[in-house]
Amino acid sequence: MIDKYAVIGNPISHSKSPDIHTMFANQTNQAMEYTTIQAEVGSFNQAVQSFIANKGRGLNVTLPFKQDAFRLANHLSDIAQKSGAVNTLIIESNAIIRGDNTDGIGLVRDLKQNLDIPLQQCRILIIGAGGAVRGILPSLFNEKPAAISLVNRTESKTLALTSLFAELYDIKPISFKSLSGHKFDLIINGTSSSLDNTLPPLPDNILEKGGYCYDLMYADKPTIFVKWGFEQGASQSTDGIGMLVEQAAESFFLWRKIRPETQIVIQALKQDLTPID
Ligand code: NDP
Repeated sequence: MIDKYAVIGNPISHSKSPDIHTMFANQTNQAMEYTTIQAEVGSFNQAVQSFIANKGRGLNVTLPFKQDAFRLANHLSDIAQKSGAVNTLIIESNAIIRGDNTDGIGLVRDLKQNLDIPLQQCRILIIGAGGAVRGILPSLFNEKPAAISLVNRTESKTLALTSLFAELYDIKPISFKSLSGHKFDLIINGTSSSLDNTLPPLPDNILEKGGYCYDLMYADKPTIFVKWGFEQGASQSTDGIGMLVEQAAESFFLWRKIRPETQIVIQALKQDLTPID
């Protein structure tokens, strides 16, 4: 029987993961099937158990189930343990379900390898304190940046993440109102604001000359945040399509022990994205 994989979330019909993994499988001659599963909120475990009963071998997990997947996995990678969220399940048997989080590795690989952005000694500002930011923080800590500052619309969530990671890294919580006068080498938009074509309330002149901007959100045209980055003088201002493909490649590697070529898939996806406005 052909090995089965899927992405599970709600909603899920917009997901690019089936296209990405099908391209990876063709490229590496892997006999596998990759589909989508829309699970109802509250029925995540049931949906996973029925996938396993149908000989499922691995799942990508997206909104809103990354914390459910964290609770369901009975063996967690170090990075999943630290982030408290799982985006990849590796089903070894009915009894052994491994949980990992490849979002941070995907982001770091896109920043360092694809975009050639140096992270060591970088002063990073991260906007947002939702599931995606929680997933990427441990991988960013490993890069030993000079500082990571965190700002979020709901300030209590900034403080909650800062204290969650206190033993690993001294994140600097900051409010939008206090940003003026600070300088950052890299500003990462980890909010979903670009989806509504709105910008977080950022003051001008907080990006170091020639610095970098990165929007986790992606679209067929530059997002409003990517445009803001260029207006602020960024040498590169990029959306999250590269991260999407790199996190998928890492999941694929965890399942199949083979590394697919990512550049060709990033280029293919860039030509096939849905407009956001
Ligand atoms: P969550 O729903 O968990 O968190 C959303 C975050 O965005 C919160 O911090 C929220 O602030 C903030 N936010 C939402 N709207 C606005 C706004 N108008 N102004 C300011 N802040 C806002 O979502 P995720 O963390 O899972 O996802 C965030 C983004 O990352 C999404 O666009 C998603 O598509 C993208 N993503 C991309 C990936 C990739 O591979 N490229 C992987 C994973 C995610 P508050 O707390 O105040 O509500």
